[in-house]
Amino acid sequence: MPRVYLSVPHLGEREERYVREAFASNWITSAGPQLEAFERAFAARVGRPAVALASGTAALHLGLRLLGVGPGTEVIVSDLTFVASVNPIRYLGASPVLVDADPATWTMDPARLAEALEDRAKRGRRPRAVVVVHLFGQCADLDPILEICRRHGIPVLEDAAEALGSLYHGRPAGTLGDVGAFSFNGNKIITTSGGGMLVASRPEWVERARHWSTQAREPGAAYHHLELGYNYRLSNVLAAIGRGQLEVLDERIAQRRAVERCYREAFAGVPGLSPMPEAPYGFHTHWLSCFLVDEDAAGASRDDVLRALAAREIEARPLWKPMHLQPLHAGCPRYGGEVAEELFERGLCLPSSSSLAPEDQAEVIDTVLRVLRAGRTRRAAPAADAVPGDQRMAAGETATGGQP
Ligand SMILES: *Cc1c(COP(=O)(O)O)cnc(C)c1O
Repeated sequence: MPRVYLSVPHLGEREERYVREAFASNWITSAGPQLEAFERAFAARVGRPAVALASGTAALHLGLRLLGVGPGTEVIVSDLTFVASVNPIRYLGASPVLVDADPATWTMDPARLAEALEDRAKRGRRPRAVVVVHLFGQCADLDPILEICRRHGIPVLEDAAEALGSLYHGRPAGTLGDVGAFSFNGNKIITTSGGGMLVASRPEWVERARHWSTQAREPGAAYHHLELGYNYRLSNVLAAIGRGQLEVLDERIAQRRAVERCYREAFAGVPGLSPMPEAPYGFHTHWLSCFLVDEDAAGASRDDVLRALAAREIEARPLWKPMHLQPLHAGCPRYGGEVAEELFERGLCLPSSSSLAPEDQAEVIDTVLRVLRAGRTRRAAPAADAVPGDQRMAAGETATGGQP
């Protein structure tokens, strides 16, 4: 088992207190006061009505259905993301269309999106929705994206699974488009062990999603059903954890940002090692601390760095593998993909937990600096078994001289 993990849950006493309340009330299933309190607190925090669900993936699935995504439709989605942004498009029988990342933000490139929508229109295939993913704690550039989508009359679903607490021009990620999806998976900035939240611009959409999430059972004692539903509601026990976590969200953001700042300062001036860019329009939570390794300048490759960290029981990962490189989604039409591919080849995520111990972070930094320094030294000096320069030249002359 790795000793230093990428991103772990960070729980405290208040989460336990709310869970005890849930037990004491005997509300331990898919209804209860903790759920109501969690949703109320979440809605107050982001400024939109919210429904708590079993996962972020469930929130994306219901959000897409709210926007009318169904069999035979197309949905535009970021190429560089976790697979859960794309799978729910397939659950609904629709087809994903992939759009490349902008190297300045690593999120969906608005120019590529415009190109994609124009091209789809020319082919007579107007996509039913655009799923824009906020990555590693940073918002996509929503103003141009929303503008382009408005022009084409296409609704926007924000996948804010990695961006709870992030801001775009001062407004919370997930609340600028038509629907927003959040995740409380165990590795996210706050967790309910597993869970998600859907928010929407229209309260009636949130009520529809809530209805679908509980098997779409109609009111009344009889088990009467008009629509297809799911078992997607978060449990009251897990909502209790979420309630406690939400109260410390700002603290967790500050801690994650401090972790990233510490790496960034330690790596400042190191050739070939650059941090994920921070877009000027937003507030980046740095859910994960991400860096790019330029092998030529750094003296070692991204994989050399990952191997050195693994050897010291430190968990680090590449960035998300782009969807167009996944056998699962490889056949999808795409607009670009080269940027996502290069980020995937050169990028890495370092241990980023809000509870990361300073001595553990120091070891991560030391390991990274060492492997890069060793690589540069190896390149600057001739290898031990190589013939030194002068002798090599002499030997070459002799050999050449000996040739006919
Ligand atoms: C984590 C994540 C999801 C899925 O959330 P779950 O709660 O694990 O279902 C979706 N999209 C992105 C970008 C994610 O990082």
